[in-house]
Amino acid sequence: MDKGLVARIVAVGSGKGGVGKSSVAALLASELRRQGRAVGILDADITGPSIPKLLGVRGPLVDRGEGIEPAPTRAGVPVVSSQFMVEDEQTPVIWRGPLVTRLITQFFGSVQWGKLDYLLIDMPPGTSDVPLTVFQTIPIDGMVFVLTPQELAALIVTKAMNMARDLHVPLLGVVENMAFVRCPHCHEPFDLFGPSHVAKVAAEYGIPILGRLPVTSEVSELSDSGRLDEVTSPEVSALAAAFEKAVDDATKSSMTVL
Ligand SMILES: [Zn+2]
Repeated sequence: MDKGLVARIVAVGSGKGGVGKSSVAALLASELRRQGRAVGILDADITGPSIPKLLGVRGPLVDRGEGIEPAPTRAGVPVVSSQFMVEDEQTPVIWRGPLVTRLITQFFGSVQWGKLDYLLIDMPPGTSDVPLTVFQTIPIDGMVFVLTPQELAALIVTKAMNMARDLHVPLLGVVENMAFVRCPHCHEPFDLFGPSHVAKVAAEYGIPILGRLPVTSEVSELSDSGRLDEVTSPEVSALAAAFEKAVDDATKSSMTVL
């Protein structure tokens, strides 16, 4: 895939499904957009595409001869998802080996994104052939990993992080999702799943913690109604700022000093 006018391609991954990876990708993209950045989302989680539902965006995609045009969200975030390739949203898609490769190389590769500051890729979770194909096909500038306090105990995410590292994808940082809840009475945060291990993982890989996002009823309600992009919070703003700094730092460190 040719980067074209896309400045930075950043993958968002996880060790397994169910940690809110897509949610974090959607929140981050929407916040960056609010701050005036041009940002698109490639939903490459072909085994369980959820970006269209979270952001209320639908296919089909059109190609007027110049390549596939993404479908924009109401807030102006262009989205491409494998979900748009099936007519019925309820039908699970079972993509098999050669078809996966074709989907990723041909379909994803022919999207006309236009000029973007960031393209976020919602990666397939884990370490199967599907993320491997994405890594080998798309020129990824860096990767962010989403994990939850529960998952950290089992360290499933480190397998996926090692895979990215082995493929020379710079690890930009980790995001702890569902990290805490706030007491509805006094708004004091408390750890729902016990103490966090995120600092240990971040230190082990020498990467920053880009954010800790709480469990809120607002996030689940707006996810269900396809309006996740309306969520604003100090935690989401802080995540966007930390993300941009991490991308910046990674870019600087990869430059050759003459
Ligand atoms: Zn309280």
